Amino acid sequence: MAEKRDYYEVLGLQKGASADDIKGAYRKAALKWHPDRWVSGTDAEKKTAEEKFKEASEAYSVLSDPDKKAKYDQFGFAGVDGAGAQDWSQGFGNLNDILNNLFGGAFGGFGGFGGFGDFGFGGGQQGPRQQRGRDIRTRVKVTLEEIANGCEKEVTIERNRPCPDCGGRGARNASDVKTCPTCKGKGTIQTMTNTLFGRAINTSVCPHCNGTGTVVTNPCGRCKGTGLVRVKETVKVRIPAGVEDGMQLSLRGEGHAAPQGGVNGDLLVIVEEQPHTQLKRDGANLFYTRVISVADAMLGCEIQVPGLDGPLPLKLDAGTQSGTVQRLRGKGLPSVNGYGLSSRGDLYVKILVWIPRKLGRAEREAIEKMRDSVRPDPNRDDRALFEKESQYF
Ligand SMILES: [Zn+2]
Ligand SMILES: [Zn+2]
Repeated sequence: MAEKRDYYEVLGLQKGASADDIKGAYRKAALKWHPDRWVSGTDAEKKTAEEKFKEASEAYSVLSDPDKKAKYDQFGFAGVDGAGAQDWSQGFGNLNDILNNLFGGAFGGFGGFGGFGDFGFGGGQQGPRQQRGRDIRTRVKVTLEEIANGCEKEVTIERNRPCPDCGGRGARNASDVKTCPTCKGKGTIQTMTNTLFGRAINTSVCPHCNGTGTVVTNPCGRCKGTGLVRVKETVKVRIPAGVEDGMQLSLRGEGHAAPQGGVNGDLLVIVEEQPHTQLKRDGANLFYTRVISVADAMLGCEIQVPGLDGPLPLKLDAGTQSGTVQRLRGKGLPSVNGYGLSSRGDLYVKILVWIPRKLGRAEREAIEKMRDSVRPDPNRDDRALFEKESQYF
């Protein structure tokens, strides 16, 4: 068996990560590796995803349990021998459920993430089946600025709604809706088949009424008896702050209507994050790189950092080194888990000093004057740096 990877490493965390960090990391891993996300992948991709998902789930099951985590922190795998192993024989669980568990009810307001699967009929085998309308999938593009504060977007979709002429009955009059003669209103029919083990009874959806238990004798002219019409509608979607590319919001009941008064499907909205021209994102943190001149680096200067809520002035000290990273605390993105502004990430600013490759005549003269007055002097405050670097050569 292959060497087991450290649980923290599996989730991309440092030892001592907080419970929220652990949750967040597992959410990310589940969104990326859950087998539901790879149904159209190649066999090799599916296999990798499955292994990664199992590995992350095992790590999470230990690190999310304070008792097991303490043992693992102290004794490593020996402390939690087998505690993280899970029985996968029942499949991987619904990704939607996994995410809902991680978030508690935090997404109640707009119906939660998820809705992978869940098509078709609801209810059991007894009596007419209640049909469920199909889900509709759509995408919505959001900018980092919109993600920073959350926003409301409008999506235009075409969906089935109850026919206004017949109120969704499919018939001109209520009396034109009759009990289905084939299934006697049950919605299902039973057939006998002979098998090696004897006779078997198969229950299947009634082909005459499609499981509704009723048939229409005088169909509505507008919807041809289906009870549904296609309409183009605009739906408002609330995008919570902190969402990430590929996340799915589900708006319960905003999908297609079902015939004969069944339950509406959901509208599944996939978040598409638009790349920012100057900022890069990793989770809740933002990264910005700025090139400054040699003179600005030596003399100090003030730059404007393109923050998501407007420019942020940043003072750079005289003697700023190339490669210096400054952190603007709390100027990143809020966490999607929604613990308020206190959980906002940071904005990291990396300063690079530009050394020109070619100089004009005037520039050359200016720099020549500097040549003798500014020379490396390891005896000053950079001594430690020089000594450290010299060990590598
Ligand atoms: Zn109608
Ligand atoms: Zn029937």
